[in-house]
Amino acid sequence: MTSEQKNTLAGFLNLAADYIKDGHARPREDIPGYINEENVQEEKASLPLAYLIEEPDEYSADSLEAVAAEIAGCKACVLGETRTLAVPGEGAARPLVMVIGEGPGADEDRAGRPFVGRAGQLLDKMLESIGLFRGKNCYIANMVKCRPPGNRDPAHSEIAACFPYLERQILLLQPQLILCAGRVAAQALLKTSKGINALRGEFVDLEIGQAVIPVLPTFHPSAILRDESLKRPAWEDLKLLKSRFVTGE
Ligand code: SF4
Ligand code: URA
Repeated sequence: MTSEQKNTLAGFLNLAADYIKDGHARPREDIPGYINEENVQEEKASLPLAYLIEEPDEYSADSLEAVAAEIAGCKACVLGETRTLAVPGEGAARPLVMVIGEGPGADEDRAGRPFVGRAGQLLDKMLESIGLFRGKNCYIANMVKCRPPGNRDPAHSEIAACFPYLERQILLLQPQLILCAGRVAAQALLKTSKGINALRGEFVDLEIGQAVIPVLPTFHPSAILRDESLKRPAWEDLKLLKSRFVTGE
């Protein structure tokens, strides 16, 4: 806490004390550091530009940390009963691309982190080949945040119970693009029953909140590990993805 913030906090505590003692408070202007209508413009002018550009988020009460904390204790569906650790997701707070997988496997359930097993290592390689790195310019999450036992597909009811978390993450992250890994995630996110072969390789606009985010479905890295012939079309998808994001570098 800066000394200015300490002063402001001390001022508010005094204000509360005055209320309790006298039933009324001192004028707020007496509180050091209090921002009123007159000095708010001055206060803004002194802020660094980057802060002002980020302004909309400063007013959002939600945060990635808040979402993760709620997920950690969530029991909104039965997957909450059998998980070891919930897996909220990880990566850059302002990603070019958000990757959405299906749900945690055994490795992820133990680690509390997404895509850390064999499929995850392949995913990292695929992303790196087009200049994407988790933590730098990419965020990785799943449709459901807790592991379906025995690696079964998550049920519709479980996906529905978990979707509000994903929705909040998407709205907070505002990724330029979403890469959807595998049939289960693509069908759920795009509300379609089409197969992955029909869905992959083409962007579909996702309307979410006030935003429209292009979503590219592709094969799940686990499927690519099982079937080498999927490598080439998956690579085509990655090149298409790369052609659509704007790095600003
Ligand atoms: Fe909650 Fe999602 Fe885990 Fe179900 S899968 S318990 S909805 S966090
Ligand atoms: N498969 C997924 O869909 N997600 C993970 O996090 C790991 C494997």
